Amino acid sequence: MTLLERTRRLQSVREGASDTSSARMVFDELVEVLNGHAELYYRQDDPVITDAEYDQFMQWLKQLEGLHPNWLRPDSPSHRVGSSPLEGFEKVPHPEPMLSLGNAFDGDELRAWYERCLRRLDEVQTDLPALNAELKIDGLAVALTYENGILVRAATRGDGRVGENITANVRTIRSIPLKLIPSAHPIPERIEIRGEVYFPKSAFDSLNARLSGEGLKTFANPRNAAAGSLRQLDSSITAQRELSFFAYSTGPTSSIVASSQHDLLHILSTWGFRANKEARQCSSIDEVVSFCEAWIDRRDSLDYDIDGVVVKIDDYRIQGQLGNVANAPRWAVAFKFPAREATTTLDDIIVNVGRTGMITPEAVLSPVEIGGVIVSQATLHNADYIRDRDIRIGDTVVVKRAGDVIPAVVASVASVRDGSESVWQLPAHCPACGTLLERLDSEVDAYCVNAACPAQFIRLVEHFASRNALDIEGFGSKMAIQLVEEGRITSLKDIFLLNREDLLSLEGFAETKALNLLASIEQAKQRPLSRLLFALGIRHIGRTTAETIVGAIGSMEELSRSTQEELLDIDGVGDVIAMSIVDWFSIPENRDLIDALRASGVSLERDESEAPVSDSDAVFKGLTFVVTGTLPTLGRKEAQQYIKDRGGKVSSSVSAKTDFLVLGENPGSKADKASALSISVLDEEALIQRGG
Ligand code: NAD
Repeated sequence: MTLLERTRRLQSVREGASDTSSARMVFDELVEVLNGHAELYYRQDDPVITDAEYDQFMQWLKQLEGLHPNWLRPDSPSHRVGSSPLEGFEKVPHPEPMLSLGNAFDGDELRAWYERCLRRLDEVQTDLPALNAELKIDGLAVALTYENGILVRAATRGDGRVGENITANVRTIRSIPLKLIPSAHPIPERIEIRGEVYFPKSAFDSLNARLSGEGLKTFANPRNAAAGSLRQLDSSITAQRELSFFAYSTGPTSSIVASSQHDLLHILSTWGFRANKEARQCSSIDEVVSFCEAWIDRRDSLDYDIDGVVVKIDDYRIQGQLGNVANAPRWAVAFKFPAREATTTLDDIIVNVGRTGMITPEAVLSPVEIGGVIVSQATLHNADYIRDRDIRIGDTVVVKRAGDVIPAVVASVASVRDGSESVWQLPAHCPACGTLLERLDSEVDAYCVNAACPAQFIRLVEHFASRNALDIEGFGSKMAIQLVEEGRITSLKDIFLLNREDLLSLEGFAETKALNLLASIEQAKQRPLSRLLFALGIRHIGRTTAETIVGAIGSMEELSRSTQEELLDIDGVGDVIAMSIVDWFSIPENRDLIDALRASGVSLERDESEAPVSDSDAVFKGLTFVVTGTLPTLGRKEAQQYIKDRGGKVSSSVSAKTDFLVLGENPGSKADKASALSISVLDEEALIQRGG
């Protein structure tokens, strides 16, 4: 049985599946399986399960070891750090061991850790010790030795006592100073700097695309890319990789250099190191818990992966009093973020046809739990995405589910292939209508260009009736499928021709449901023109673009007659949008549709609320705003409307073009991005003051 099969079997035992093995046999198997994964992770930089899966097994092992202390084995992974150094590298003993960290998986566990520290300090300490919370960079720990300010040696953590000499490779990393900068803080004659080498996210995808293009093995995540790039016997390969470094400690000499972790991070930066700027000195454990929880959502705003927050007692004197356990300090703990990745099997790849005809490959997965939700489908984005990552049907894949984003397959684990996997090909024809798919040179997506494609049409009907478009209550996805498949709707205009008898003849329709739907359809005839324009599903016309266009052109009739040049005169309309509109109105069926909508009584004129703001009222003209967080009185939509009413633009994402961030309570990553770009921030009161 392969390691992965043994892991899956253990997983089912853990979940309560019956098994004939004795508890002791399960325990021994658990130790061996964990050791197998540690070997793949630490020595081969090629794990086949996610860290969260590994951590769950490790927790199980620790539980069993607590229950049965006499079962403890000398090779237990719970009592070791990392793995022994690789052959091929010179071995270097660490003057002071490089330890691992204890874990906390939620706020309660963090508080329990702090309580344990306080109990130990009881007799010696009266004040509550301050803490330092630092992002846990997901990379590789290294120890750098400087003599008289010059880098003389760099080593990996290895098994904590002995590491690998990687000096030549580390010299290629630009953020590691070869010579320290003298500062007001004297540099000891010999000093060890510890920190994390990591692979920036922005460089990761291009590295994998290049490796895959050269037929080489890709990396499952940036951490493995960092480890694999750093432990190269040929340093010229490391030099081609964009590795970076954050410094966070001075190993055994910390207390000589500074009196607290907070001060040390500052001192390190004066010597030329990058110390992570997000670190926060906290006076209470509650503040630490809030910091950790805030970063769960914010982590995607960073250009490096973090897998948690390292919380340390700030004062080095108190750290010394607390000391270490076997393989971790008592004065620090790693708060681990909740799982958002899991591995599973990719059973098949199907393609979906969107309303614009865009073809999206979708993964059919063996169901897997991620953060409390069972995931059995995930997006694969497009054919290039699958090719660049060499994802094959039958592969073990890593699936990520983060926040509200649709789950996505992020990598395949090529090392566990058994030869039965197959390379996927984008079908030549649309699965719904058989039309030859088209792919323009400049676009990554393939399209079904048949305007009469039934799959596209169902998506278009769904979109037409959806909340942000004509908002026809009671008209969801199921209804769209039913009405199209039964032949009641063959064009969007048919929606307004539906009558009571039509609906009553359909399965699942009774009098009330039919009448309610007809009433909703009637109401939808009077929606603002920009909503109708968006509802038509014209390529590249999103809601904001539709609003911009309707702000400048007051009726559907006028729009249908506009030339590309006239459209280009509208602020915010570029070539792609202008061409898309002209193309759409050039198709006779589309003109017929507009005529039919008019005949059905659908409003095709701009209403009051959409009229352009007169220049005297347009105090926000030329300014772009982003609204984030909860405002004290205005709802999000109201705040956006307030800005638009005064001629301002509202964007959903922060960029260099943003003029103001309107900030409320509990903002997400937009606040971080805005602060990184030094964008001016307004609260609700300041917004209203400016708006007059
Ligand atoms: P750890 O990653 O939980 O914590 C210790 C490490 O944190 C340090 O060595 C250091 O490298 C790092 N770190 C990052 N930022 C830091 C900061 N600001 N201050 C101090 N340290 C910082 O422990 P570990 O012993 O390195 O290994 C366990 C990890 O390895 C777990 O995440 C585990 O899931 C993973 N692992 C995964 C597999 C797998 O198969 N997927 C196998 C083995 C281990």
